[in-house]
Amino acid sequence: MKPFAYTRAETVADAVAALAASPGAQFLAGGTNLVDLMKYDVAHPEAIVDINPLPLKEIEALADGGLRIGALASNSAVAYDDRVQARFPLLASAILAGASPQLRNAATTGGNLLQRTRCPYFYDPSTPCNKREPGSGCAAIGGLTRMHAILGASDKCIAVHPSDMCVALAALDATVEVVGPDSARDIAFTDFHRLPGDTPHRDNILERGELVTGIRLEANHFAGHSTYLKLRDRLSYAFALVSVAAAMEIADGRIIDLRVTLGGVAHKPWRDPLAEAEFAGAPAEDETFRQVADRLLLEARGQGGNDFKIPLARRAIVRALRQAASGTPQSQTIKAIQ
Ligand SMILES: Cc1cc2nc3c(=O)[nH]c(=O)nc-3n(C[C@H](O)[C@H](O)[C@H](O)COP(=O)(O)OP(=O)(O)OC[C@H]3O[C@@H](n4cnc5c(N)ncnc54)[C@H](O)[C@@H]3O)c2cc1C
Ligand code: SF4
Repeated sequence: MKPFAYTRAETVADAVAALAASPGAQFLAGGTNLVDLMKYDVAHPEAIVDINPLPLKEIEALADGGLRIGALASNSAVAYDDRVQARFPLLASAILAGASPQLRNAATTGGNLLQRTRCPYFYDPSTPCNKREPGSGCAAIGGLTRMHAILGASDKCIAVHPSDMCVALAALDATVEVVGPDSARDIAFTDFHRLPGDTPHRDNILERGELVTGIRLEANHFAGHSTYLKLRDRLSYAFALVSVAAAMEIADGRIIDLRVTLGGVAHKPWRDPLAEAEFAGAPAEDETFRQVADRLLLEARGQGGNDFKIPLARRAIVRALRQAASGTPQSQTIKAIQ
């Protein structure tokens, strides 16, 4: 047991100030990832700033038909919110594909964005890991790579971001609201997480001391044609091998607007808006969906143990787009399983 200081912040300003006051401090939200990392001897915060008293649990309707989700809204509260289910079923479905009911009750929206990779070597302090200890090497390269990246990896790190919720938020072009010691800013969701490059210890572009306060979603026309498809080793309580958030606006059988984001394949939710734009006007049919898959996976490279992910992702993209085009209901958003 390593001792740490513990404070509860009552206001956003207090939380940000408390973190700035201690270089080794970390925010605590639901604790479902941070506390595990402390137990595994991977995270050693000198101080914990508990942000649970902050007034950031609300889900508010915005004038344009969008929603603002407070950073402390639990994953369950978001997934079962009537407005989320009606306007953003893709998000509800992605959240419900993750973890377990107990975990989703505790886990928060902000914490889900900031959760760390599930690379097994990252959780094992006896192995080299550039993400845990910069410059120490990467035990995954040449090791067991079943869960690792096929897109955007570097020779320093081949880990993937494990979130389901974030895959949907990237597809929906969400905005992350952030407050720091000196100012507040908005970050486009697709810019929030980063690729590993030479600095894999940085998962995202947050500066030291910045607090995520909420997520904004603008109104869109995707509710009737969206799907979250997650493929994994078990039917529940497992991280994605490959997941696909697919959303389309369709008129007269043709694609007006297309969104495809992949999870489980890269250090961040993988989206390519330029590739999506190439399919505007194309018929919403299997041949187009196969072309979308080929285009998105053009640069995909396996690491040996995860080569199977490339054909798996190709088939998953086609299936998700087919389901989205035909308006297949999102069975996982049914309230009865709450
Ligand atoms: C067994 C298990 C299975 C899981 N399966 C899945 C799955 O299938 N899919 C999936 O998506 N997730 C899964 N999860 C992950 C789970 O969703 C995350 O642990 C959870 O979302 C983290 O939220 P939290 O509020 O508990 O964060 P915490 O553990 O409290 O914090 C996580 C990190 O975020 C930081 N942080 C928290 N809130 C903020 C904020 N507002 N601003 C800035 N920094 C902040 C903390 O300092 C910490 O570094 C699983 C977790 C477990 C334990
Ligand atoms: S893949 Fe990344 S997280 Fe995993 S061991 Fe290598 S550096 Fe660490």
